[in-house]
Amino acid sequence: MAIGFLDLAAEAKLDRWCMSPYCTTCQNMDFRTALAELPDLQHDLELLDLGILRRSQLNALRLVAILSSKSLDWTKILSIWLPHAGRNIRSTDYVCYYLLNGVTCSQEVRAAWISVCIQMAIEKRDDSLLESLVRRLGEDSRNHPKLVSAAIEQSVSSPLLRSALAKASLLPHEVSEQQRTKREKAGYNLFKAIRRNDVKAVQALWAKHANLSIVDEEGRTALELAVSLGRDGLAQLIRAKLLSG
Ligand SMILES: [Zn+2]
Repeated sequence: MAIGFLDLAAEAKLDRWCMSPYCTTCQNMDFRTALAELPDLQHDLELLDLGILRRSQLNALRLVAILSSKSLDWTKILSIWLPHAGRNIRSTDYVCYYLLNGVTCSQEVRAAWISVCIQMAIEKRDDSLLESLVRRLGEDSRNHPKLVSAAIEQSVSSPLLRSALAKASLLPHEVSEQQRTKREKAGYNLFKAIRRNDVKAVQALWAKHANLSIVDEEGRTALELAVSLGRDGLAQLIRAKLLSG
């Protein structure tokens, strides 16, 4: 039986307990039961050495943070850990991404952690930590221009970082090649729907984000075709669509 957090993490790994956060099948019953039996989890976590935590231990820590987000003094734990934050970038990243927003702790400690993480991310140019920060800070990332410029620089080689930046409105959303093709196809089908004067089909093609800027074999856009065919209702719809973007 586990007597401390590290024993618990070892047992979970050895016995292959379910460690999926918010598991709806078993509710992490094995882990939850063993966790409840630990005599002094608070103390264990305060003594935890962030610098040497392995992946399985970090996963156990994430589950503890979810299952005991309010029942532990996380302000104290995170303050004790803070001076050691720089020792291991993977643990720091884990705390930044999974713990800071999930557990109940003081604003001051959270802010202090974020500032250490930002410094570290800028210094090390670590894609994953940059991504965690941009995802957690969202549009507030703008308040940290050096973080944003480091993230944008690194994003050239990291699709995950690009998507985090786009989500935080710091980069335009990327349209994948596949999406582009679909939109083009819908755009061509639009011409047929206009010729048939088929309003329903036109609306269905809009739902597929039909590309309105492509032209038919005579060089006409969908709007020009609708006008030339005297499809006033459709022309009006297309104008409205173009205006609304
Ligand atoms: Zn499960």
